[in-house]
Order: sequence, then C-alpha cells, then structure tokens
Amino acid sequence: MSDTLILNADGNPLSVVPLSAVTWQTAIRLAYQDKVRVVNEYEDWEVHSPSCTWKVPSVVMCTDYIKWSRQVKYNRTNILLRDLFTCQLCGAKPPASQLTMDHVVPRVHGGKTNWTNIVTACKTCNHNKGSNRKIKPKRLPTKPNYYELMSKRQRFPITIRDESWLVFLDWDSKLVEMRPPRKNV
Ligand SMILES: [Zn+2]
Repeated sequence: MSDTLILNADGNPLSVVPLSAVTWQTAIRLAYQDKVRVVNEYEDWEVHSPSCTWKVPSVVMCTDYIKWSRQVKYNRTNILLRDLFTCQLCGAKPPASQLTMDHVVPRVHGGKTNWTNIVTACKTCNHNKGSNRKIKPKRLPTKPNYYELMSKRQRFPITIRDESWLVFLDWDSKLVEMRPPRKNV
C-alpha cells in the first residue's frame, strides 16, 4: 500500500476508487517537480540522500486542478463493489474470496465479459447455473458511474497510512483501519 495521499487542487482525493495514493518516492519526486505541494508530513519519518534530508509527505495536493474522465475500470473488484459483495442470484454475502463472476448470458451462448453481462454470484449459484441461460439475476447488471461506485466504496472498510488522511476522506470512522508505513528508510 502507498504512503502518500494525493488530493486534487480542490482538496478532494484525486480518486477514491481506487484511492489515489502513491509511494513516498513518487510523492517526493512530484513535489520536487512542483506538480504537487505538500499538505502534511509524517512527524517521525525522514528519508535521506547523501546531500539532503526530506520529511516524507503524508498528504500532497496537485498544483493544478486535474480534470479526468472518471471512467470506472471494468475489473473484479469494481464488479464486487457494484454488487455490494452480494450474490445477485440468491442474495448470499459470503467472503469475497468465495464470490465468482457469473455470465448472465453464458459464454457458450455468446455472452460477453463486460459490465452488462457479468454479475457477482456465490460459488453454489454459479455452479448450479452452469450454462443455463434462463437463470437470471433479479436485476440485470449495468455499468455504474464513478460516483455510484464511490458511494458504495464508502460503505466498506478502508486502510489508511496516516491519521491526517482522515480529514480528506468522507469515511465512517468505524470503517477506518490505521496501518502506519514501515519507516525503515
Ligand atoms: Zn448465490
């Protein structure tokens, strides 16, 4: 996991899904290039080169506002998030490792692997369904937009590196896990 949270010039995280965080090396390089300014530093973490010492930034902010398309990536994590880690056939919520990606129109019938043909399914439902195209989820899947995915992401735990991130993340404190970086540099 990365050490430094990146904010856009408006003070919000550059991205929440996935969280915009980078390694301390990248953060220091971006600051050195004036692409970001440092908002917070780790109090007790410095890194050294032969000639310099830097405090490691915990939060940086882009110097210029970055406009981006906010397209959501098609991948397993985002499908699980869209479906709230719930089997779309029976409603079960087993651990994420027990959830599979099910083709609504089975591949053997020409079904594609994309947002509108893939749903989260538990192993039992996926197995029982096989290539039966008549078994369908209660709601047909759609492609979510970034904000839908972000608000769903905020219902689940997040791991952060530094308390100073909390100010910039709109997150229920019960769902925040602190895991400080190993400052062995
Ligand atoms: Zn199921």
